[in-house]
Amino acid sequence: MSDLSKEYIKELVRLDISREDADDARKMLSDLKDVSDTLGNPLVTSNEKRNIIEKLFPESLHKFIMTAVKDNAVDQLAEIFGDYDDVLVEKQGSIKAVVRYVTPLTESQQADLRKFITEKFIRDDVDIEYRHDPDIIGGFILTAGDVEYDKSYRTSLRLMKEKLRTKANEFAEQSVSGEKPKKASDIISVLKTEVEDFDTKVAATETGHVIRLGDGIARVHGLGSVMYGELVEFETGIRGIVQNLEEKSVGVVLLGDDHGLTEGSSVVRTHKRAGVGVSDALLGRVVDALGAPIDGLGEIEADDYYAIEREAPGVIDRKSVNTPLQTGILAIDSMFPIGRGQRELIIGDRQTGKTSIAVDTIINQKGQDVICIYVAIGQKSSTVSQVVNTLRKYDAMDYSVVVAASASDPAPFQYIAPYSGTAMAEYFMEKGKDVLIVYDDLSKHAVAYRAMSLLLHRPPGREAYPGDVFYLHSRLLERSSHLDDEHGGGSITALPVIETLAGDISAYIPTNVISITDGQIFLESELFNSGLRPAVNYGLSVSRVGGAAQTKAMKKAAGNLRIDLAQFKEMEIFTQFSSELDQNTKELLDHGHMLTELLKQPLYNPLPHYEQVILLYAAQHGFFKGINPKELREYRNDLMTYVKSYGQDIIAELEDKRVLTDDLAERIERILTAFEE
Ligand code: ATP
Ligand code: MG
Repeated sequence: MSDLSKEYIKELVRLDISREDADDARKMLSDLKDVSDTLGNPLVTSNEKRNIIEKLFPESLHKFIMTAVKDNAVDQLAEIFGDYDDVLVEKQGSIKAVVRYVTPLTESQQADLRKFITEKFIRDDVDIEYRHDPDIIGGFILTAGDVEYDKSYRTSLRLMKEKLRTKANEFAEQSVSGEKPKKASDIISVLKTEVEDFDTKVAATETGHVIRLGDGIARVHGLGSVMYGELVEFETGIRGIVQNLEEKSVGVVLLGDDHGLTEGSSVVRTHKRAGVGVSDALLGRVVDALGAPIDGLGEIEADDYYAIEREAPGVIDRKSVNTPLQTGILAIDSMFPIGRGQRELIIGDRQTGKTSIAVDTIINQKGQDVICIYVAIGQKSSTVSQVVNTLRKYDAMDYSVVVAASASDPAPFQYIAPYSGTAMAEYFMEKGKDVLIVYDDLSKHAVAYRAMSLLLHRPPGREAYPGDVFYLHSRLLERSSHLDDEHGGGSITALPVIETLAGDISAYIPTNVISITDGQIFLESELFNSGLRPAVNYGLSVSRVGGAAQTKAMKKAAGNLRIDLAQFKEMEIFTQFSSELDQNTKELLDHGHMLTELLKQPLYNPLPHYEQVILLYAAQHGFFKGINPKELREYRNDLMTYVKSYGQDIIAELEDKRVLTDDLAERIERILTAFEE
């Protein structure tokens, strides 16, 4: 700050200009370039300038601005008003202590208090105001700077009441759990000691106050030692998460409606990071981003509180991916197998069946001892309720949790929903369970984060996303892992979903998430519309680690499926216009058509492992040769009914050992031949 502007600011302070007036003037000067240009123009007479000033600026500032015009300092004015605002904010937070009391304090008590405050804040210019306040019943409350020392009887009574209530609950629990019930005299003596020992520890609560409010963001002055990501509570009872730590203020995103909040409202720290209550009672429930139920089925009792942002397990604590997570979708399990602990991206344009793949996979986990968490981000509430209904219909809700932050929820809810879901997943993983988590979808998550960041005035980068948008998703997906046996052997498998525009997988957010995940299933509108559903593009999809987790039987049965399909695709294009084909090419094309038909799969119809193996074996060994593709579905259904009636031993061995031995292959061959005849 230059000397001149310092002088000006001092003058503003002396004139006691209000914040609103200063802000109006600043806006006028910075938004309307013409005004400052005209005022700075030496060719305009000072009478004209005075006219302009009187018309446009608040009255309290007329003289002040005229002086600045004379000093040729108009171009610095906008900045000066901005600095003045900061000075006022500083002043607001300066040490003004308020003591609320019931019985007036004695001289010596007052002196002690003053000494305490000056020592605590290392300032002499403390201004103490005494206020009579009978509401606090007795004692006193001291508010100084951003801390509050509460020594009032009102608070002591409240704390004591809480303490006695917890004691009473303990007694009640003991009698329920069948422990020896306490005699009334015992209870009284316990309560007596509690009351005697009750010590009103003066808790200094750090408080701050709102200096700016809007768009679900509050800028708060004070709260000097608040943590990033900490929950803070506003006087209206709503909570917020601290997101920006700046020199003079902190940026807080509100978790709820700002109704009743104004500039000057007080905010207190909770010393807790944002988190969710977790317990087994979550299963079968639909909750919001903070874990509160939204399905009208009553409270969810929490066993524990998990911060939504937690550190991912370290490499040493992890085990390599070695167990498959069956999706029940033939095209995926055979060519792009997913292992427990893996992160497989589902990517595609809108309406290409992304959600359907995730839902099918959840339905297929029935009886597999896998817990499923479906996180809906930024979707329409009706879409979410459709998914919940489908899961209910197929009895999949019993082992699932749905976390929903729909499009109508504020951006902060959409931003934290996937982290909350992951915290729940971690709770189950730490109990040794296998968990599948679906993030539907992360494109909308990134958009919500962008909205929030822009409102927090973080600098926008590529596509207006903030610079840390990569980290947004990497720290989320890094938490999916497969723990080693020492840590319980649980796992989290993630199926993030990304929506592309016109199949453009090289856009910013898609490339980010592709580079974080262990593979992607790429769905294509063109295939979808041509009736090939699920619309998996076999060329662009890949699973980088799942192969290690595929069952031996599946690996053997699938054989060169992907290569066959690739050859077929190429040949199909190549022979599009030729009429005469040699026998070899014709066979290759027929085989390809048959495979394409085989991989089509209707919704909510996951195939068990043994069925996939037998179908693939039959396809690769010519058992579907000569069958009209249109009749293939009926034919394979008949085949499976036949196998189920006469080949129970084959099914049992496939499910049990999951290896396709020569002997087993021979038996499959026999039963297929028998069926053919
Ligand atoms: P959005 O972009 O709107 O989220 P999405 O990519 O998640 O869409 P879905 O909602 O899963 O797509 O599916 C779109 C439509 O396609 C749905 O009506 C669904 O019933 C249908 N569909 C999806 N998969 C299949 C399938 N294998 N067989 C038949 N219909 C399907
Ligand atoms: Mg969807």
